[in-house]
Amino acid sequence: MCSDIVFSKAYFTKSAPSLRECPPETGVEVAFAGRSNAGKSSAINALTNSKLARTSKTPGRTQLINFFNLSDTQRLVDLPGYGYAKVSRDMKEEWQRNLSEYLQKRQCLRGLILLMDIRHPLQDFDATMIRWAIDADMPVHILLTKADKLNRGPANNVRQAVIKELKAAGIANRISIQCFSALKRTGIEELQNQLQSWLTLDNAEHAPASL
Ligand code: GDP
Repeated sequence: MCSDIVFSKAYFTKSAPSLRECPPETGVEVAFAGRSNAGKSSAINALTNSKLARTSKTPGRTQLINFFNLSDTQRLVDLPGYGYAKVSRDMKEEWQRNLSEYLQKRQCLRGLILLMDIRHPLQDFDATMIRWAIDADMPVHILLTKADKLNRGPANNVRQAVIKELKAAGIANRISIQCFSALKRTGIEELQNQLQSWLTLDNAEHAPASL
């Protein structure tokens, strides 16, 4: 039996500039990705009840993949934010190479949390990220962030519209989606349940078959 993950126990372990420098693939991890300013740092901080992820960054500086451990074998991974207009083309291309390589080759990756501002969902590169993940057979859980900016009805309409669009594109299969607000602390439990289920998958594999 696996015990519940205590997210507030997360601690920073490493920053890696590329896949080569990521920690060894022992255990399992879940990655967080999203456009710059989508609310990724705020979400990670709300999830872990900490200030682990910085909320004010200088866009354009070297982009690192940050690793936070929940235990010796379970990690959260903060991927560099994308879509910042002033980043040079070289940097964008390098970042995209790193990202696609990470999603395709990282064997211990169990799922991708994709964050999109609820007022601007499914921008160009979001769709690319979803395709990369689906192509790599990776499940995706979408957070529609800053949901406090909309009332509940309109927020749910956005959620339905995104689902419809993903279905129309034929990529809704392994995707789940929820509203989230770091500010109001709504949706945290739903996110924790998703992470818990992905990060404890391997334990089930090692347990004796119970059916
Ligand atoms: P990141 O670049 O994706 O890491 O985004 P940040 O977490 O730094 O957030 C970007 C901006 O959005 C900041 O000004 C945050 O205060 C704001 N923000 C983040 N989460 C929320 C939220 O849940 N509600 C509201 N209203 N603003 C948020």
